[in-house]
Amino acid sequence: MSLAFKTLSFGIKKAPPKKNESDARNNRKELSTITEDSLQKFDELREKMIGTVETKKKKDSKKKKMAKKASIQLLSSRKRQYESDEESENDVEESTGAVEKKMQKLLDDIRRSNRIFTWGDHLPNIILRFSDSNLSPNLLKKLSEYSIRQPSPIQMQSIPFMMERRNVLASAPTGSGKTLAFALPVIEEVLGLKQRADYSSTKTSKLLVIVLEPTRELAAQTYTEFVKYCDGSSISVANFSGEETDIGTADILVSTPNRIVFHLDKIDTSALRWLIVDESDRLFEVVEGQDKCFRNQLGAIYKACDAKCTRVAFFSATFSHEVEKWCKENIDSIGMVCVGERNSSNTSVKQELTYCGTEDGKKIAIRNLLRTSFKPPALVFVQSKDRAVQLVKLLSAIDSNLKVDSINSGKSDKERDETMERFRRGEIWVLVCTEVLGRGLDLSDVGLVINYDLPTSIVSYIHRVGRTGRAGKSGHAVTYFTDTDMKYIKSIATVIRQSGFEVPEYLLEMKKVSRDTKKEMLKHAPKRHKIAMVKEQVIKRKKMLAKAAAEEKKESVVEMKKNISKPTPELKKKKMIKKKKL
Ligand code: ADP
Ligand code: MG
Repeated sequence: MSLAFKTLSFGIKKAPPKKNESDARNNRKELSTITEDSLQKFDELREKMIGTVETKKKKDSKKKKMAKKASIQLLSSRKRQYESDEESENDVEESTGAVEKKMQKLLDDIRRSNRIFTWGDHLPNIILRFSDSNLSPNLLKKLSEYSIRQPSPIQMQSIPFMMERRNVLASAPTGSGKTLAFALPVIEEVLGLKQRADYSSTKTSKLLVIVLEPTRELAAQTYTEFVKYCDGSSISVANFSGEETDIGTADILVSTPNRIVFHLDKIDTSALRWLIVDESDRLFEVVEGQDKCFRNQLGAIYKACDAKCTRVAFFSATFSHEVEKWCKENIDSIGMVCVGERNSSNTSVKQELTYCGTEDGKKIAIRNLLRTSFKPPALVFVQSKDRAVQLVKLLSAIDSNLKVDSINSGKSDKERDETMERFRRGEIWVLVCTEVLGRGLDLSDVGLVINYDLPTSIVSYIHRVGRTGRAGKSGHAVTYFTDTDMKYIKSIATVIRQSGFEVPEYLLEMKKVSRDTKKEMLKHAPKRHKIAMVKEQVIKRKKMLAKAAAEEKKESVVEMKKNISKPTPELKKKKMIKKKKL
């Protein structure tokens, strides 16, 4: 197998050019559309609103003074004064109402143009600048240090929601800044609490925030983001999914749910202010009754909290009915925010569907793709850890210069961490992974995602292609499909078309699959031919063949012995004749 690919070459001989990170940050597109014009209009209206409120206050105090004076003044002059006061007060109220209306219209227009949709009671207004949100000067300084200038749509709406301590269910496209959308209000609240004298005297060592992430890799990434923004403050952040087994005096704890549940008896959740569930739809994917059923784990954690004090926020790139149902059943009043279409893919990722016919066709397609239009680094998704190892072997055989590796659940935690580090440093150009490990990762330079094995649901597709085109950058995603994948292709083709990219018409016209088939498809990815034989598989196969041969030999010996001990009827006959003759 490997010989067949030895002659093929990628033509990648150079390491990817090192980019200047701050240049890259400064060159990226803003995630939201807020024009200078609308900002100016907003400022003017706000000035007016403040002005009218001030005028009203002044009028109120003047009125009080006048009332006092009136007791010693002549009735006729007093009446004249009151009449003129009342007239101008009506003017003030009228103009306040008109300004408020104009302001509301402006904010609603901006909300619409940024495709922010909300549901719930008493929805707070969006913010147009981080400085409009009562974030402390230190946090604002950090944001500008990291070149985060303007809030993204999800941040515009969920920061004010969370600053008002409202339960939130939020969904927004991949790479649109959901981490900061929950991290900033949470850090602000913890800072405020820690500064309060009564709080610091009584609740010093109590945990204030739990952030749940579906994988260790994501927990590590979110932990790093929190550490960046808490640096220099008195807040302590812990990552429970890493080496840490003792949360000590942490204020904010980031972890996978199973670690929390396992140590729940050791964690004091009585003062918990926020329970954040990131990638919530992923966490809800495991079916009830299974060992790692997240709903049960979340239920256990939520039960341990004081419902009066703890607020819950769910964030994901896809809007899952499972999550919505859980929220409606368990949480009293929840505000919902959805940015863009429900369950749509990131439109800044150029998306292509490539028909390859068979598994062998996919091997040729990936070789051609990497040889022609490939700028490392790239992420390649396959459906199982075995296939990840096989694809690494295949790609290495195609070009021994290509720096390729995989991240899969067959590796130890340490190996996985090291691989991620090498990928981030640019030492690995192509990282092959399974979806579970690829989801949510913010690998900002990834320009290409290849779905080598077709994802089995649109949710999975959206998350995979969302590993590129992050923070307003452009990206490219290529998805292969074969005859085996025809059952799955219609829904994915539809998502791609909805994002504005070309797909062959016949794919959209294919028959819909039934609900039961869909469920079945989610549980089992299609069976596929092996991509390549890896060393362990070769050894395993040799062993199996040897065992089978040994067993066959044993069986034939037994059979021979049986035949020897049991004389055939002809032999018996011959023996009888011999006896008679004698
Ligand atoms: P998501 O969770 O929505 O997939 P992340 O929170 O991982 O996305 O953010 C993706 C990238 O966008 C990160 O590198 C982050 O620093 C950057 N980012 C976050 N908010 C903004 C913003 N308002 N403007 C520009 N970049 C942002
Ligand atoms: Mg995220």
